[in-house]
Amino acid sequence: MADNYNDDEVIDQEEKKQEKFCFLCRRPESKAGPMIELPNNIHICTDCMQKSFNSMNQQFNDGKFNYADLMNMPNVSMIDLSSFQNPGQQPKKIHKKKKEEKAEKPVLDLKNIPAPHKIKETLDQYVIGQEKAKKVMSVAVYNHYKRVATDTMDEIEIEKSNMLMIGPTGCGKTYLVKTLAKLLDVPLAIADATSLTEAGYIGDDIESVVSKLLAAADNDVERAEHGIIFIDEIDKIAKKKNTNQRDVSGEAVQQGMLKLLEGSEVEVPVGANSKNAMVPLVTVNTRNILFICGGAFPDLENIIKERLNKQASIGFYADLKDKYDHDPHLLQKVTVEDIRSFGMIPEFIGRLPIIFTLDGLSEDMLVKILKEPKNAILKQYQKLLALDEVKLEFEEGALHAIAAKALEKDTGARALRAILEEYMLDIMYEIPKDDNIGEVVITREYIEGNGGPKIQLRGQERIEKR
Ligand code: ADP
Repeated sequence: MADNYNDDEVIDQEEKKQEKFCFLCRRPESKAGPMIELPNNIHICTDCMQKSFNSMNQQFNDGKFNYADLMNMPNVSMIDLSSFQNPGQQPKKIHKKKKEEKAEKPVLDLKNIPAPHKIKETLDQYVIGQEKAKKVMSVAVYNHYKRVATDTMDEIEIEKSNMLMIGPTGCGKTYLVKTLAKLLDVPLAIADATSLTEAGYIGDDIESVVSKLLAAADNDVERAEHGIIFIDEIDKIAKKKNTNQRDVSGEAVQQGMLKLLEGSEVEVPVGANSKNAMVPLVTVNTRNILFICGGAFPDLENIIKERLNKQASIGFYADLKDKYDHDPHLLQKVTVEDIRSFGMIPEFIGRLPIIFTLDGLSEDMLVKILKEPKNAILKQYQKLLALDEVKLEFEEGALHAIAAKALEKDTGARALRAILEEYMLDIMYEIPKDDNIGEVVITREYIEGNGGPKIQLRGQERIEKR
């Protein structure tokens, strides 16, 4: 015991002997607080350090500061002053985000890509109609990712499966691509061709689509290199006819995209979409990036019709001139030549080897879109009301009335939600007021404005609300 006590005392005395003193104010550490250590066993208390910097700053601001003075201070020249004066400002570092552990498994495994019919089956759960488009895309995606996964690109160079989808607005072009990317769990960047211009002009330069993809991949270059880039409104970069000005947003953009589509190394800024001195750059190879371009191509039907009529008016196949005027599947007869006449340059079309069309949506398809997909709009409303323990039903006639209204707007399925929202607003407002309401049925009359929905109270017969 005694021995222990003696040992403690010795240690105490040793510590006292070694107590640090401020080199400037000579106060011990026990009084002045923790010391800042400088080389050659010199210690300075935080107060003195602060005072020195304050006076230096003052002299600096007054213009009296002399670096020679600083050099005379013992070893102070070793300190990085800027880090003391702006403790918040740290040199910039590239923070690569760590790959987050994904709890969810992707529906389709990239490494073990399922057969095209399996891909289509999964798409069927979300996208109504567009059978041809779903089939073509499933095969193209299958080939693309099979090739990427096995990396057999070197021996026999198989062409990239870049695609061009043609279809009226709101028919599901973007939705198809989004669904596909989600199912495959690959990053997706959606860009609008109208915002792109030749590098150096106002607008986004073409490579910005790759930096969008990198951002979608959480700055993970490897993931981005297996991603999908969807460029919408591609018809808007058609060659401008009869123009004397330099075409910086049309033909030049097509030219600029050639290398990207084919596969090239692109330097893109990390975490920003414009290159400048402050932003670090990384190199992304676009060789395995799947490019999908989409557009409505208005007027293309006329070009097709003209070509067909010209063919038909010659000799043996001479035909009636207005034969194609009301052909709902005219767009499907599109050829590369027609797209060229529209204003896309041959090199550009050549790099999009898979061309397919999507159908405009009919009333029946719109009704299906309302109720059938996995995340159908009706199901969403039903779920919302179910939270209030209210059952929501739609009469078949009501769905057709909604679809008919959407057709009038000519924006495809996009109009459906807005229309439904309008009618559901009152319902969503009124229902929570009354706890007795157990079921609501939306009727055709309610949609057409000459009746109300049917309301059923809990445990009672249905009553019609006017
Ligand atoms: P666009 O062809 O102009 O790119 P979108 O794909 O953006 O049109 O379609 C708008 C919305 O309409 C989508 O978000 C989707 O909810 C719905 N939609 C369009 N077409 C379909 C379809 N064939 N099946 C299911 N939903 C569709």
